[in-house]
Amino acid sequence: MKDILRKRILVTGGAGFIGSHLCERLLAQDHDVICVDNFFTGRKANIAHLIGNPFFEVLRHDVCFPLYVEVDEIYNLACPASPIHYQHDPVQTTKTSVHGAINMLGLAKRTGAKILQASTSEVYGDPTLHPQPESYWGNVNPVGSRACYDEGKRCAETLFFDYRRQYDMPIKVARIFNTYGPRMHPHDGRVVSNFIMQALEGEAITLYGDGSQSRSFCYVDDMVEGLMRLMATGHEVTGPINLGNPGEFTMRELAEQVLALTDSDSRLEQHPLPEDDPKQRQPDTRLANELLGWQATTTLAEGLPRTVEYFRNLLAQVEGK
Ligand code: NAD
Ligand code: UDP
Ligand code: UDP
Repeated sequence: MKDILRKRILVTGGAGFIGSHLCERLLAQDHDVICVDNFFTGRKANIAHLIGNPFFEVLRHDVCFPLYVEVDEIYNLACPASPIHYQHDPVQTTKTSVHGAINMLGLAKRTGAKILQASTSEVYGDPTLHPQPESYWGNVNPVGSRACYDEGKRCAETLFFDYRRQYDMPIKVARIFNTYGPRMHPHDGRVVSNFIMQALEGEAITLYGDGSQSRSFCYVDDMVEGLMRLMATGHEVTGPINLGNPGEFTMRELAEQVLALTDSDSRLEQHPLPEDDPKQRQPDTRLANELLGWQATTTLAEGLPRTVEYFRNLLAQVEGK
């Protein structure tokens, strides 16, 4: 019976932070998972525990190039997500979003697979509407240093909706808000991993700007649940749909929580605010609630200690303890 129900599911970016959790959950549900990754920001360590499972397969492949596999569902997550990584080779970032979307949509068209795009709250840019509903068109600088990511993701959304309009394909677009948890890259440059690593290593906490800018942080397990629920919807549900935790914090508040949790005496050190850094961000998640019966249930107070624990163990391994 299991074999009849087993779907062949492709996860691009499957060795990354969110992708590795997604692969794990799909395997736990007895699906056949193909993880495609070029290991730009992903790590083998994220998926090492899955290797050996006969229903898990890893392909080292760049989604900018065509891919021919036979699948029933595609989660398209391949793309560096942290500003330092996506700005490292911005042309490649845009190519990954745009050529990657075209290839994965071409694959979905040929196989008839359902396809889900991991879009982002960055499509809203530095929002002038707060919180952000899906109907908001955003405030993005098209020529700034974040544009390779923001506009790449916006173009990918356009492609998804044009393939839908032209070929009536089963597409799903999730707009993911800041997500955190175990398996974030320790040197990823994102705020949660930076603050925790700095606090654990007794280094100064790098607060960009005055720390009054806000973000809303979603624990990775909640995010994976939201993505899977969106994939399970019928043909009529396409999104775009916000997935995130509406709990909003300033970066200064986050730093204080991390310091308290780690019992660290690291000091706060102010750094210049990066170009086009959004001042505030909070998802309006009413649509996800209504269509998916989904809302994030893990508070920052619950998710942060689990993330600290992960980084503590990672450091202990490095130090050979
Ligand atoms: P991540 O960097 O850990 O994972 C991205 C994965 O994609 C990595 O394993 C990387 O090696 C792989 N990759 C990059 N370019 C590729 C290419 N050309 N071909 C094949 N693989 C490639 O980041 P993440 O946080 O797990 O993000 C996953 C997805 O979710 C991304 O698309 C990201 O834009 C989106 N997202 C994440 C967040 C967040 O807060 N984590 C927020 C919004 C959107
Ligand atoms: N493609 C792919 N795998 C497939 C089918 C298509 O990678 O199984 C790629 C193909 O290389 C093409 C892209 O997807 O460049 C878009 O395919 P589509 O059929 O939409 O366009 P066309 O092939 O007509 O350009
Ligand atoms: N940030 C910070 N210190 C850091 C890294 C990030 O103060 O060491 C700030 C950054 O300026 C932004 C927020 O934290 O306002 C979230 O940054 P991140 O790169 O994690 O995500 P994004 O800006 O893409 O939401």
